[in-house]
Amino acid sequence: MNAAFQALCARLSAAGVPGARFDAAELYRFVTRRDPRLDDGLTEAEAARLAALADRRAAREPLQYILGEWDFMDFSLKVGPGVLCPRADSEVVCETAIELLQGVPSPRVYDLCAGTGCLGLGIARHVPGADVTCVEKSPDAWPYLTANTADSGVRTMQADVFTYYKLLSEEYADLIISNPPYLTGPEMGALMPETAHEPAMALDGGADGLDFYRLLTTRYKAALRPGGWLVMEIGYAQAADVLALGETHGWANGSCRKDYGGNDRVVLLQKN
Ligand code: GLN
Repeated sequence: MNAAFQALCARLSAAGVPGARFDAAELYRFVTRRDPRLDDGLTEAEAARLAALADRRAAREPLQYILGEWDFMDFSLKVGPGVLCPRADSEVVCETAIELLQGVPSPRVYDLCAGTGCLGLGIARHVPGADVTCVEKSPDAWPYLTANTADSGVRTMQADVFTYYKLLSEEYADLIISNPPYLTGPEMGALMPETAHEPAMALDGGADGLDFYRLLTTRYKAALRPGGWLVMEIGYAQAADVLALGETHGWANGSCRKDYGGNDRVVLLQKN
């Protein structure tokens, strides 16, 4: 163990960084390409670079933004200010879609509010022959989406999902997946410092957090073929409300699945 690493851990702990030791090790490795447990110190240049990154993390900028890259499922994505960080919670959303697409030849898939493209890319990587389109409105998220999807065969569209449905052919899609903004007004007012660095556009689901579920369950049904699926990430307390929207708007076979942290995280609805 070296003094520089210990000082870094102490610095991040004092700033209230959750999992300070893990983040310190990540930053140390990022700058030095060496393991802090086996290393015995920093060059002057490394120390200066690490101090600058530690300042950013101590100001509670997400670790993902500082590293510029983050793993999701079995691949890695470019991330940074302006785009929502891919989260482990979302992996079960993607896995659910992959499961529903087994046996569907060349499925057509839309990932709405795609952000980094993590969900659409996960499907494209695991469902051979899938034709995936990622739709994202934010000009700040757009460069990450295009970089992440380059050479993947995944299409990208810069569009607002509140109007995009008008461009879709009826009964064309096999599956629509979305991790829409879903935080409520009160949740938006009490964000963790890290989440407050992420784009509000990717988080704010309106006063009750359900604006995008109302949109998806009404305007995006026509685009799905009969038997097609709508797969949505939800907030941990939203399963009942989103399933009720599904019932109200005539969807079948509604169900909810939990993420690996044990929270309700995915609602799936089938078109009759
Ligand atoms: N999971 C995010 C959070 O807890 C919210 C993401 C979203 O609104 N889609 O901050």
